[in-house]
Amino acid sequence: MSQAFQVRADAVFEAMWQAQSGRCALCGGRMFRNRFEAPHARIWAKQRATLDHIIPRSKGGSDQPENLQLTHARCNKIKGDQI
Ligand SMILES: [Zn+2]
Repeated sequence: MSQAFQVRADAVFEAMWQAQSGRCALCGGRMFRNRFEAPHARIWAKQRATLDHIIPRSKGGSDQPENLQLTHARCNKIKGDQI
């Protein structure tokens, strides 16, 4: 991953975090944006914020912000398992 992409991804993440008020797009629950906010590593592993493709890339979804949302790692995985 290039440095430029990382900076852009961080900016996208920040804008989405603000737009969603730090809540999961799938279940509406509060997410953690960094490890130090979570009380336990296991909670962090499930409730950290992840970038989710609304339309999966495997189904032709793009990497543009319109196709991205923030979800819990757990919710992202559940959604992925259903596709
Ligand atoms: Zn969730």
